[in-house]
Amino acid sequence: MSATPPLSQVPAVGNNVQIPAEMLDQSKSALTPLLGASLTQLTEWVQQQGQPAYRGRQLHGWIYQKGARSFGDITVFPKQWRETVADVPIGRSTLHYRSEAPDGTVKYLLRMADGQIIETVGIPTSKRLTVCVSSQVGCPMACDFCATGKGGFTRNLKRHEIVDQVLTVQEDFGQRVSNVVFMGMGEPLLNLEAVVEAVQSINQDVGIGVRSLTISTVGIAGRIRQLAEHQLQITFAVSLHASNQALREQLIPSAKRYPLEALLDECREYVQLTGRRVTFEYILLAGLNDLPEHAVELAGHLRGFQTHVNLIPYNPISEVDYQRPSPRRIQDFVDVLQQHHIAVSVRRSRGLEKDAACGQLRASKSLV
Ligand code: SAH
Repeated sequence: MSATPPLSQVPAVGNNVQIPAEMLDQSKSALTPLLGASLTQLTEWVQQQGQPAYRGRQLHGWIYQKGARSFGDITVFPKQWRETVADVPIGRSTLHYRSEAPDGTVKYLLRMADGQIIETVGIPTSKRLTVCVSSQVGCPMACDFCATGKGGFTRNLKRHEIVDQVLTVQEDFGQRVSNVVFMGMGEPLLNLEAVVEAVQSINQDVGIGVRSLTISTVGIAGRIRQLAEHQLQITFAVSLHASNQALREQLIPSAKRYPLEALLDECREYVQLTGRRVTFEYILLAGLNDLPEHAVELAGHLRGFQTHVNLIPYNPISEVDYQRPSPRRIQDFVDVLQQHHIAVSVRRSRGLEKDAACGQLRASKSLV
């Protein structure tokens, strides 16, 4: 499953060991960062460095609980060893920009080791702290209503770059993160391996319950099945957004290659393979896909499906002139779905004032 070399194979720095090319982080010709590694992997690694096994647990605690950014921070380690491994990267980002919306939502622009910038959002409520993480720098899917899609795709994020986002928000709020949603920049199923590894680390190393982690996808043929095979007990959400194929194609270019029926079939397979329900996300665009007949059509597709529909009233972006429906229209849509016995909720937009809401992430400081 993993393309990342086991840490046990990462050679010590400074002892003249030749480092095989596949162990180099190609973006920076650096060693594999430690962030995202499990307790077992870290323990093996410290032992390989000639250190006692208990230093593995110490290292794990310093990385995941105490926010160590380099070996220099880990003051419990002998000075001489800290100097020997000083070049081994932990894998933390640097804060490029932070802005807080009046509702308490915080948007972060984070700089990766290669200089690329991504957005992460921290969303506090009275009981929870949710982090919306990015899985890619940009996004290739080009959905018409999404700001990220307008900016194109640069690269996939690595495991450590995803885990880092959770730690960054946790440290900034000084509060434990309760939920993580893969709803920032990017299409998680196009970066499945790193996303699965990050999910495992966020669960086991950062310590967030796996059911409190949500992966959201617009749907990539064959990848929903692949995700199901990992048997993660995550919450799984699919961005449906349309009640028929023609409408979906209009909004989502990739729908042409992956028809609605095929997507729904793969979602049924997901339910069978995992025993978990699928949440369908549905953006509401006034006059376009928010009419009662669309709700009836949607309900028809979801008949017999163990599901939940999450309606997302459109958050404005500058490039297109879609409109958010009125509260009355939204309620009408809800009512029709409920009449068809479909569980439904409406997503509250958080961070709108700071361009931090769903679909508004573009790794930019300026308000457009
Ligand atoms: N690529 C993943 C994650 C994207 S963002 C996916 O497509 O699911 C998470 C959600 O925000 C998706 O449902 C996405 O369609 C939605 N979204 C995108 N742009 C939006 C906008 N302008 N207003 C409201 N929701 C939007």
